[in-house]
Amino acid sequence: MSSAASAEHHKEGQEASPKLVVAISVDQFSSDLFSEYRSTFRHGMKRLAGGAVFPSGYQAHAATETCPGHATIMTGSHPGRAGIIANNWIDLRVARDDKTVYCAEDERVEGTSFGAITAATQGPYIASAWHLLVPTLGERLKATSPQSRNVAVAGKDRSALMMGGTDVDAVYWWKRKGFATLSDREVGPPIAALNARIADYIDQARAPYPVPDHCAARNNQIVVSDNQSVGTYDFRRPEGTARIFRGSPDFDKVTIEAAMALIDSMKLGQGEVTDVLSVGLAATDYIGHAFGTGGLEMCIQMAQLDRNLGLLFEHLDAAGMDYVAVLTADHGGHDLPERLRLQGVPDAERIDPNLNAKFVGKQVKDILKDSSDVPVLHADSPFGDYYVSLDLPAERRAEVKKIAMMMFAEHPQVEAVFDHDMLSALPMPKGPPEEWTMAERTRASFHPDRSGDFIVLLKKAVTPIASGGPGYVATHGSPWDYDRQVPILFWHKDLAHFEQPLSVRTVDIAPTLAALIGVEIPADEIDGKCLDIDGGKANSCER
Ligand SMILES: [Zn+2]
Repeated sequence: MSSAASAEHHKEGQEASPKLVVAISVDQFSSDLFSEYRSTFRHGMKRLAGGAVFPSGYQAHAATETCPGHATIMTGSHPGRAGIIANNWIDLRVARDDKTVYCAEDERVEGTSFGAITAATQGPYIASAWHLLVPTLGERLKATSPQSRNVAVAGKDRSALMMGGTDVDAVYWWKRKGFATLSDREVGPPIAALNARIADYIDQARAPYPVPDHCAARNNQIVVSDNQSVGTYDFRRPEGTARIFRGSPDFDKVTIEAAMALIDSMKLGQGEVTDVLSVGLAATDYIGHAFGTGGLEMCIQMAQLDRNLGLLFEHLDAAGMDYVAVLTADHGGHDLPERLRLQGVPDAERIDPNLNAKFVGKQVKDILKDSSDVPVLHADSPFGDYYVSLDLPAERRAEVKKIAMMMFAEHPQVEAVFDHDMLSALPMPKGPPEEWTMAERTRASFHPDRSGDFIVLLKKAVTPIASGGPGYVATHGSPWDYDRQVPILFWHKDLAHFEQPLSVRTVDIAPTLAALIGVEIPADEIDGKCLDIDGGKANSCER
């Protein structure tokens, strides 16, 4: 795009659009991981790091979870505008008994439930993108170019659905032992064939992954509890342990195989019009949760992620199509407190097990001399949205809210407590996201109809897992930059390499891609703005 020939084309307004947009989200791939491992990349990540590089991208909002993060990437909207305030929230008005709502379900369907079932185990809920209040890039493209296809595949249903949206030609995600799709659709033959191949080996024993030389220094045992330690696992598996497949590099490999099967069978990017393919790679997140970010496990995963992305790009190259790729993450992450304390962060700690709706709600009731057994506070997590029971009279609701907010605010692990009505009155923040106040970060993932009566933010380096357990020792979700900062990497064969250290936001990705493929998005419909990724005199935002 920077050559004289393409400048000529540009003048004539005839520059061809890429025929395929490949948008990749690597779940929990923080800017910290990118900078730590960047010099070791040799394959797909190396290619991306040679394009238009924004190492300081921001998932700018406070609720740095998977669903809100994925909702920003292809919509150009902060989670507050998109309506995706968290992975799960409480809706006390919903008709069904279970008042916990999952971001990527349709809770209006009778007989469904989410609450007791975690996103990890995937219960009897109906996967859907209906909570997403804004269109994705693929949906906008299809509105003006009906022959274009919008396809999404991911390790998690919420990732595929938030990047694809509702108007999708194909959407797949991992469910138990294979890829699944929407309840009213059939799994197509190429994915069914892949599922059959996976079924052949998923329960088999697995040999350890090779340990790259640079991983040796990370290969140290960290004790989490009397019967659990992390830091030295090389992903070997005994027979019959399909359940730990997700938390291994194999999981990204099969997700990329699914993407390649869809590219081939649907001939994505090989027609007259542009198609959009969103790919969500979840292994980094499962590995980060299970083992933290600083051990042998993440080191091996980074090397394998690099290789697996290389396979995808080689596949696209072999098909000979003109594609533009972008890679980012839904949120960042940081290490488990037990290792952080050994590595220069003496204050890192786990959350007080009594900092939650149940315990604080009980204390509020004691103060109000309420001896009923009806809970007054509801929340899905120790941080984030808290809801006051609707069963109470208005005056009592106000008292409960006031006392609860005071009790949270006084807790030494709490950074801030924000009132729903205060946040409602704030405009959506603008400007450099690293300069945003805590209230502005919270506003960016706040929606007046879905957010809590008040929102609790934890102090830096407080891990909101009271005691670690298998598969879950570290996490993200905070308003701090270790959870907000993610790389944003664009690659196209004609893009010159440049490095832009100033901050940009993941909401800038959709308008940047839209300009490349000729989709117009009215500025007032989104929060992001187009980034000129040409790097030379031409402006990729003015094609
Ligand atoms: Zn996660």
